[in-house]
Amino acid sequence: MHSTNTGILDKKVYIPYMSDAAYALTAAFKRCGVDSDVMDEPDESTLDFGLKYTNGNECMPCFVTTGDIIKVIERPGFDAKKSAFFMPTSPGPCKFGQYNRLHEMVLDNMGYNEVEFLIPSAKKSYTDFVGDKAVLFRRVAWQGCVAIDTLEKALYRVRPYEINKGDTASVYKECIKLVTDSIEKGKDLYETMAECARKFEKIPRVDEERPLIGVVGEIFLRLNKFTNNFTIDKIESLGGEVSVVPTYKWITFTTYEYSMNALMSRKIKDIFLSILVNYYQKKDENNIFRPFKKLLRNHKETGIGKILSYSKKYIDLSLGGEAILTVGESIDFAKKGCSGVVSIHPFHCMPGSIVQTLSKKFREDLNNFPWINLWFDGQESTNLMLRLEAFMHQAKQWQGVRNDLPEAA
Ligand code: SF4
Repeated sequence: MHSTNTGILDKKVYIPYMSDAAYALTAAFKRCGVDSDVMDEPDESTLDFGLKYTNGNECMPCFVTTGDIIKVIERPGFDAKKSAFFMPTSPGPCKFGQYNRLHEMVLDNMGYNEVEFLIPSAKKSYTDFVGDKAVLFRRVAWQGCVAIDTLEKALYRVRPYEINKGDTASVYKECIKLVTDSIEKGKDLYETMAECARKFEKIPRVDEERPLIGVVGEIFLRLNKFTNNFTIDKIESLGGEVSVVPTYKWITFTTYEYSMNALMSRKIKDIFLSILVNYYQKKDENNIFRPFKKLLRNHKETGIGKILSYSKKYIDLSLGGEAILTVGESIDFAKKGCSGVVSIHPFHCMPGSIVQTLSKKFREDLNNFPWINLWFDGQESTNLMLRLEAFMHQAKQWQGVRNDLPEAA
């Protein structure tokens, strides 16, 4: 078994489905001349396969991705020599950095030791792969993620108010196709996003404002519908509108950390590279969001520096990872006037346990802002709907109340 960040030109790269941003990555690979496909969305069979080859004590995204990899391998005609699995990694205080090792061991034990893994690292803000097309790949993958995340924001903004059921989902699907085509063929993505914004704005909708619910937590579960038991659909069915911390926020966070580490280590090359990455990321984010500015006025992302300034009262930032982000994003949602926050975590998640422990304190500081911690382990939870009903009742009462708190709170 080998890990590779360059030897993939003659292989098909499989992307695990966490969110629809996976389609941006396949499009970016294709743009760089590499065949690529998104793995099937997780379902019950994912859990059957995943739990068969793990012991169930791993974090849920770990055994879910294991199951999805095995589903690809078991497909008729799968060619181990011509396949690679994309599995980013991260250093830091949690188990994410170990996923790829476990996957390699499972595949070795199954006799698939020719399959390769493509493992970009958060340590360098994922700037470290795809040979001579690395710069192009990094840029278009980033643009694609931001674009698809922005479409998803528009989906959540418009769907709860649509007059004709299904209109928003169908526009969303059409726009995903426009964006992936644009990336693959090197068209003007900013122009494509302007076209998409016009399509969303034309959807007929009722004139009302539901309570806005921030969705924070562990990246895989908060974004993946199957693994969080379709929590977002449930919130909408109970009368809420959601704003979910998007996939690309993690990338901005890794870029921020990369910049800080470069400055501290005084490595000129890394400092220069991090300045460039920051500049282009911000430029793309602004240009991609611009046509949606009016529609998504309550859904604009707050910069990472500000998010971390909120967390630092409660948690030492040197811890890094998901916990400091989740605390900061929650406070940000409260300050932006949301009516409540849903914090989603896998069972056994270390950052999730930290957030749960701290949530009592920062909720008190936010005047007991409506908040719910949800934990998932792959089992159907019978009381999820009941808990969400109680939470939404509180959120509706909170709607319109603003937490005018001091900057450092
Ligand atoms: S954030 Fe939680 S679920 Fe995700 S890898 Fe780390 S410990 Fe596991």
